[in-house]
Amino acid sequence: MNISIVGTGYVGLVTGTCFADVGNQVLCVDNNQSKIDLLLDGKIPIYEPGLEELVSSNIAQQRLQFTTDINRAVAYADIIFIAVGTPPDEDGSADLSHVLAVAKAIGQTLTDYRVIVTKSTVPVGTAAKVRKAVQAELDARAVNVEFSVASNPEFLKEGAAIDDFMKPDRVVIGADDDRAVELLRSLYAPFNRNHERLIVMDIPSAELTKYAANAMLATKISFMNELSNLAERLDADIELVRQGIGSDPRIGYHFIYPGCGYGGSCFPKDVQALHRTARQHGYNARILDAVEAVNQDQKSVLLDKIDAHFDGDLSGKTFAIWGLAFKPNTDDMREAPSRVIIDGLLARGAKVKAYDPVATEEASHIYQQQQDVAFAGDLYSATADADGLIVVTEWKAFRSPDFTRLKSQLRTPVIFDGRNIYEPAMLAQAGFKYYGIGRSN
Ligand code: NAD
Repeated sequence: MNISIVGTGYVGLVTGTCFADVGNQVLCVDNNQSKIDLLLDGKIPIYEPGLEELVSSNIAQQRLQFTTDINRAVAYADIIFIAVGTPPDEDGSADLSHVLAVAKAIGQTLTDYRVIVTKSTVPVGTAAKVRKAVQAELDARAVNVEFSVASNPEFLKEGAAIDDFMKPDRVVIGADDDRAVELLRSLYAPFNRNHERLIVMDIPSAELTKYAANAMLATKISFMNELSNLAERLDADIELVRQGIGSDPRIGYHFIYPGCGYGGSCFPKDVQALHRTARQHGYNARILDAVEAVNQDQKSVLLDKIDAHFDGDLSGKTFAIWGLAFKPNTDDMREAPSRVIIDGLLARGAKVKAYDPVATEEASHIYQQQQDVAFAGDLYSATADADGLIVVTEWKAFRSPDFTRLKSQLRTPVIFDGRNIYEPAMLAQAGFKYYGIGRSN
């Protein structure tokens, strides 16, 4: 099949590459010329494990192409995926301007039947808007072209995106005509071999499913963070509580890790957008409100502990930060808790020396005007002569450092562990003052 993917970000590039890898001809489009230039040059603009190799091999096999020309993409494919960004508007609702601009551009040159699929995370009702935008252009051109609109939200996780796409838990397809469903069913057939993974439903339900999934995961995190704050006040250890409840299969172990807040390009914006959708329909989604409020506060929990440890005087102190990305295995720093922590430290007159295995380049753009933020090339260059260590992202490489070396490097042997990756008793024995999340300190 010939497939076009409009929007070559995390989702579009992974989707396009994986479809190409199973034998389709794929054309990826982006209106960001420098991104496309980079890809044409064989480089990829993001860090995602395994992606660079997969992109290269599919380019070499002539199954994967890149362009900035949307008209070419419309002419090229049986199925056109819209995978552009849907960032939050000022009021928290999803900004659909990119999605609708693509729909408009499709309508301007459409001449034959196509299935137009929204892969971006979009509020209920967006597919209908896409259909209207395409039809308006056809009407303006006074042409009659048949087309289908479908919703196929994406559930991949950054950091494990290829595996998630190749072996999906489920593929949700929202459609209201059989022709679209059959085309999408055959496109996904290679990912659906062992057992049925396609869940076909009406379009509004498919659109809502994506928000429901992200809101549920964010709720689990905020719930545990809320409990961790309570555990601290009760002299309980949230890590033991986590194990105690996770062993119940009705609860399970996934997504109940306490920490210094969730970030990324999806959970914060999707929780806000769903909340906004609810309000637009006259419903006050109280749980979503609380999920967001708890998360905002949680991003500052480590700052409060640092303040308390140093009696509120951080001026002139330097802190090592391990982990900048919002989670391990990605360079994505959108809404990352590290940003709240760094900004808070700077506001208190402190300096930061940060290390992240892959997000340093991204972070150096964000903090390029900040003289008080420096970046280290490895773990121990960050901690040398620092007044304390703050762990913000749970990269594997941070789990078992050389504590003897760390202790000799730090001016004061204190560790603020925003992901509970260390054992408090072990660190106490090694001579550190340890602060975790939800553990009595
Ligand atoms: P991204 O910002 O990485 O990529 C979006 C791309 O779209 C950019 O390269 C941008 O230049 C391009 N673009 C914008 N307008 C365009 C236009 N008119 N024509 C062509 N290209 C255009 O975003 P992303 O993280 O890939 O997310 C895309 C969508 O998928 C969002 O709705 C997001 O919520 C959703 N999603 C993201 C993830 C994730 O983990 N990142 C997972 C599931 C779903």
